[in-house]
Amino acid sequence: MELSQLGEFALIDLIKKDTICNKKNLVIGIGDDAAAFIPAPHQLQLITTDMLVENVHFDLRTTSARHLGYKSIAVNLSDIAAMGGLPTHVVISIALPKDLSVDFVIALYEGMKEICYEFGVNIVGGDTVSSPHGLVINVTAIGEVEPEKLQRRSGASVGELIVVTGTLGDSGCGLDLLLQGTWKDYDFYQPLVTRHVTPKPQVKAGSLLASYGATSMNDISDGLASEANEIARASKVGMIIYEKEIPLSPEVNSAALKLGKAGAHYALYGGEDYQLLFTILPEKFNLLSQAELGLTLTVIGEVKEQSHGVLLAAEDGTASLLEPKGYNHFR
Ligand code: ADP
Ligand code: MG
Repeated sequence: MELSQLGEFALIDLIKKDTICNKKNLVIGIGDDAAAFIPAPHQLQLITTDMLVENVHFDLRTTSARHLGYKSIAVNLSDIAAMGGLPTHVVISIALPKDLSVDFVIALYEGMKEICYEFGVNIVGGDTVSSPHGLVINVTAIGEVEPEKLQRRSGASVGELIVVTGTLGDSGCGLDLLLQGTWKDYDFYQPLVTRHVTPKPQVKAGSLLASYGATSMNDISDGLASEANEIARASKVGMIIYEKEIPLSPEVNSAALKLGKAGAHYALYGGEDYQLLFTILPEKFNLLSQAELGLTLTVIGEVKEQSHGVLLAAEDGTASLLEPKGYNHFR
């Protein structure tokens, strides 16, 4: 069935099912002019939004409705995680072409509800409009953090270590595989495609790292090069990042060879890994790595004076300026 046959209000009724997984502190969810909740005492409220536009951020030839729903929430939860916080609520606005099928919207929300349940987040409202051209999804997430755990980009100081969670480049490499349409032939590469279509926001890690004394943090949405430069600029520091220390999965190392690119290229300039990049004092990092928190952490560099710039040290010992060459919309 097409949306034009169902209408806006019947659609919202369908969307409304199973949107609340955590009733605590929620006063009004979907169904009134605004949602209402009681903020936890002594917590800072975090709010962030991200918009996904068809053929700019996603291509319906390489993503399913369910994966798109999952990812549109994941990118927002990742921003909350990068502040050291825990997400609590989302509102979702969608602009839909009239000829889209009702099943597509239901699958989109299935993906959204799946990740919301995974992270204990309520869907408390949104807006539904028609679009003359292409699908647009805007998600706003609300979260909370103890004031002393708040992670800004501006908190890095000279002498601290630069650390990342997980492995980098998987998502960008997975996208290249999808675009080539060859991944189905290689079960081995499935994890790369999975990380591209259903990235896991590092919510638990972000909160733990903040508790253990991280001084600045960013989620890696536009590649390591871009995110490192953002922290350096906001903190007024320089950095050195050692290329050989950048954690790459065996799948990226292998797939990159086939795709004719260096694995590190995907880590530095490929987007959408949604791992965390943070800085921390060496002694705090020692405590953190001894704590057996179940996190994969890799030291990739050090914070230097601002006059050093942001440098990438290659395996042969030469260093070059690491330019923030991520995706940029108006370039
Ligand atoms: P209003 O006209 O007062 O803005 P709407 O008729 O647009 O209200 O929406 C009715 C209810 O459904 C509201 O609670 C709104 O937040 C919710 N809602 C509308 N569209 C969506 C959506 N796409 N996803 C989640 N909730 C939605
Ligand atoms: Mg109203």
